[in-house]
Amino acid sequence: MKEIKAIQPQLHATLADEKLQLAVYTATGRLVDKRKSTVAADVLPDYQELRQQANDLKRHAIEHLDYYLEEFERNLETRGGKVIWCRDGKDVVDFVLGLAKRRQSKVIVKSKSMTTEEIHLNDHLEEHGLEPVETDLGEYILQLSHDKPYHIVAPALHMTRYQVADLFEEKLEVPREEIPEKQTQIARAILRRKFLEADIGISGANFLLADSGSVVLVENEGNARLSTTAPKVHIAIAGVEKIIPRAQDLATFLKLLGRSATGQPLTVYTSVLSGPRRGTEIDGPEEFYVVILDNGRTRVLEDADKRQALYCIRCGACLNICPVYRRIGGHNYPWVYSGPIGAILTPQMEGLHKNPWLPHASSLCGACGEVCPVKIEIPRLLLELRSDIEQDKADRGEDKLEKLAFRAWAKVMANPRLYESAGAAASWAMQDTGEGGWARNLPWFMNVGPLKAWSAERDVPQLAPKSFHQLWRERRKEKGKA
Ligand code: SF4
Repeated sequence: MKEIKAIQPQLHATLADEKLQLAVYTATGRLVDKRKSTVAADVLPDYQELRQQANDLKRHAIEHLDYYLEEFERNLETRGGKVIWCRDGKDVVDFVLGLAKRRQSKVIVKSKSMTTEEIHLNDHLEEHGLEPVETDLGEYILQLSHDKPYHIVAPALHMTRYQVADLFEEKLEVPREEIPEKQTQIARAILRRKFLEADIGISGANFLLADSGSVVLVENEGNARLSTTAPKVHIAIAGVEKIIPRAQDLATFLKLLGRSATGQPLTVYTSVLSGPRRGTEIDGPEEFYVVILDNGRTRVLEDADKRQALYCIRCGACLNICPVYRRIGGHNYPWVYSGPIGAILTPQMEGLHKNPWLPHASSLCGACGEVCPVKIEIPRLLLELRSDIEQDKADRGEDKLEKLAFRAWAKVMANPRLYESAGAAASWAMQDTGEGGWARNLPWFMNVGPLKAWSAERDVPQLAPKSFHQLWRERRKEKGKA
């Protein structure tokens, strides 16, 4: 496929990097095993029922998105918070810059948020002289190394502790330290100062609760709690799809999220944030904003079937189990969302023609669909998207060669004489190409251009020396003679 050629050198480099392969394979394998042990039937007997409940809840929320988002806004504003509706990343950046200017802020602490990665928020803030500081350890490591997330849950999964030791030594000018716990202490000492300096804290949102106007954050490090409560202003940035109807629905999602992501029955911290500090409260921000972002999500909504990609709760289980992700890693995917969820979300959010190879980058083994806690039918959506992409290409007059080939094929199939002659010619041409009934190579004249790459990876059954029609005619002739 023409478009994937552009990243082929990058793909080959990833596959040839033994250390990287080992790091990714080991880390994802560990997550797969942990997940499996926490959803096993003897540990969580109602696992499949929970998945169905989660699917039902997400479907209901997405089908009534306008209703629940407006309910969320009303409830948040009753508690003194404010919703900012943003069409795209530019709207978000403009809002944050305006607020930073008004509050004369310089340092902004951030907790992990794929939504802010999606809109390159840090780059834009830095361009305007602000200092965004990632406070999740993995994200902090990536920020120091000017890298992007490798995985939606474990952003620095591709880096070894030795690489982190080199990085800290170089960037933080500290003595080399290879023990992860000590590396964490180094980062913590620096980040604590940043929490105190920051005027604004930015977080993502795992869930937005419509019935109370609350933002729910789940995390393991406690940095999200500090980012959202220590600074005077908190901004939570969430995609429209993060809404769920009621606080009680959280029970279903929280049971699934930690297990599917890291194999934990629950993540260490679950915070429910409901507006700014009130009256007698001693902590919390003075100003509380929830930015609700579209950025292509309403385009996904337009398709009543494929919109189920918006049910995703970003657990990463489909990445960990995917044989393609585990080999090609996160950086070869074109956008922040990698693995199977990236392959169904990116074309829908960014447009079918941008990376048309993406839904094809799957073995369709079905493992992603089996582990997805919200039961998104990922393999089926991949097939649907493949079909949409071909239709899109045809509509735009692309892939003329393929079109010509299929036209020729249709002509041959519709004409018995042509069909028979083509069969005889192919059988003659393939007579010396195989062994044991299989053609190991296509004949030379079919083994050029795109067909060469295709046939290098595939064997086809050898054609019989005589076609059925030939044999039939010969038999009739013999019978006639007898
Ligand atoms: S698609 Fe499903 S398995 Fe993949 S990240 Fe989203 S919720 Fe998790």
